[in-house]
Amino acid sequence: MMHEEEAIIQVKHLVKKYGAFTAVKGIDFNVHKGEVFGVLGPNGAGKTTTLEMLVGLRKPDEGTGIIGGFDISRDIKKVKEVIGVQLQSTTLFELLTVEEILQLYGSFYRKQVDILTLIDDMILSDKRKSRIKSLSGGQKQRLAIALALIHDPLIIFLDEPTTGLDPQARRTLWDIILKLKESGKTIVLTTHYMDEAHVLCDRIAIMDQGNLIALDTPSQLVKSLQSDSAVEFRFQHESDEMDMTKVEGVKQVGREKDAYVLYTDDLQATLTSLIGEASEKQLKLTDLKTRTATLEDVFIHMTGRSLREE
Ligand code: ATP
Repeated sequence: MMHEEEAIIQVKHLVKKYGAFTAVKGIDFNVHKGEVFGVLGPNGAGKTTTLEMLVGLRKPDEGTGIIGGFDISRDIKKVKEVIGVQLQSTTLFELLTVEEILQLYGSFYRKQVDILTLIDDMILSDKRKSRIKSLSGGQKQRLAIALALIHDPLIIFLDEPTTGLDPQARRTLWDIILKLKESGKTIVLTTHYMDEAHVLCDRIAIMDQGNLIALDTPSQLVKSLQSDSAVEFRFQHESDEMDMTKVEGVKQVGREKDAYVLYTDDLQATLTSLIGEASEKQLKLTDLKTRTATLEDVFIHMTGRSLREE
């Protein structure tokens, strides 16, 4: 980084083992005050475990975490005063109304925000008197975030906040998260959607198999590919006759099942060369697509696998 930003979270060498299996293998990162920090990775990468250690739900086997100046191993009570947490499996009291559960949670804290304003901010005003069990998935998720905000925390942890939501509900939640950032909160969220990470996050840590394999801004991560375009295609009849690294302009070659992905910063040269070579070998290309390189490609490039696979 060019200049020192204020680190509101400092993580050093965090390790978590489940028996003989190490789910988080010694990761380090800082989160800056006021940023949206994304932890991106496929299922099982260790994202939830990392979050759970930071919020005091699991004890790290090694390493330290300092949040808002407090040590997660020694001062978790203090940590809990400055953080708000929404986990994947928040269970809500289904028979209470939206307003009632917020009042209940608020009563647990010394400091609390104005409940009606909070309900309004989470776009739940017309559900204020509705029972929780009657809410949609998106509304329940927004309520879970409201509960995380009741004591006006500085830092908010959101574990896969939009998983399972329809596109419109996802977008509503994105708006809410960006507004929270505008209001000065620091947000740490996990996701396995790269579009979400790209839209929301100032910086992204990419995790894979318990390791942190990259950390940067979304645009720097994509830039690190050194290719701005991806060309995807298959052969009508599977063939490995062509050496893709010989295609003009190709920087990297990825495979996704029987499809090829060529990364290039000279799209025109690559397409011309690809089509020329294929014709020469009498290979027929199908499903040919070109697109701008994305975070998904960064992941494929680093691991040889797709984020979408298990
Ligand atoms: P997801 O997107 O599915 O939540 P994740 O990146 O959050 O994935 P974790 O939930 O942190 O991943 O899990 C990391 C690894 O640790 C996985 O292989 C998981 O099976 C394993 N794991 C998680 N919790 C436990 C547990 N309580 N006991 C044993 N293994 C566990």
